[in-house]
Amino acid sequence: MARVSQTVPRVGGVLLGSSCSLCGAEGRVLCPPCAGELRPAPALAPPAGVDVCLALLAYAGAGRELVARLKYRNRRAVLPGLAAAMASLVPEPAAIDVVTWVPTTPVRRRQRGFDQSELIARAVARRLRRPCPGLLVRGPGPPQTGRGRLERRCGPVLRACRPVPPRVLLVDDVVTTGSTATAAAFALRRAGASSVTLLAAARTPRRSSAPTAGLRAS
Ligand SMILES: [Zn+2]
Repeated sequence: MARVSQTVPRVGGVLLGSSCSLCGAEGRVLCPPCAGELRPAPALAPPAGVDVCLALLAYAGAGRELVARLKYRNRRAVLPGLAAAMASLVPEPAAIDVVTWVPTTPVRRRQRGFDQSELIARAVARRLRRPCPGLLVRGPGPPQTGRGRLERRCGPVLRACRPVPPRVLLVDDVVTTGSTATAAAFALRRAGASSVTLLAAARTPRRSSAPTAGLRAS
């Protein structure tokens, strides 16, 4: 019996995801010391084509690791908290017609089995009580990761796959150069959007700094 009573809470903890996504300490999906390492996103001008850029975390240190874990190791336990914090940045949810996301490449989606930005967008949309249709598709081309800054600046080829309502909240996991957001914003505008608000989990601290370590950004 003693074995059972020790095992159940542990299994329950795993099922509930109650261990720190960064350091593994039991208790919360983000332990207080790790949460204390997170830094707010830098206040930077929105990328071209975007009216307002709302970003939660600086894409550096613990913030970078948090997004990377969600992205590459499918650590979804942190998703609800992340989405709630992101949603709280939106000043007027009623002024948003739809929430959508910047799609990853079909290859990436197959490799990971999910689209990180779609997961975040759907969780944010649930909190804001707004619809969340997939509005954008990627044309053929390499993923942003591993491309040089000049290449990245050109952005991926994106197009809308259906008519777009006027006021769009565009969700992406990380904003680095802003080229992807710009490509997405112009694609949305060509299909009917009149305002595009970008909501990102993280943004790189300096716009001039190209991502380096691990080439994890997209
Ligand atoms: Zn921790």
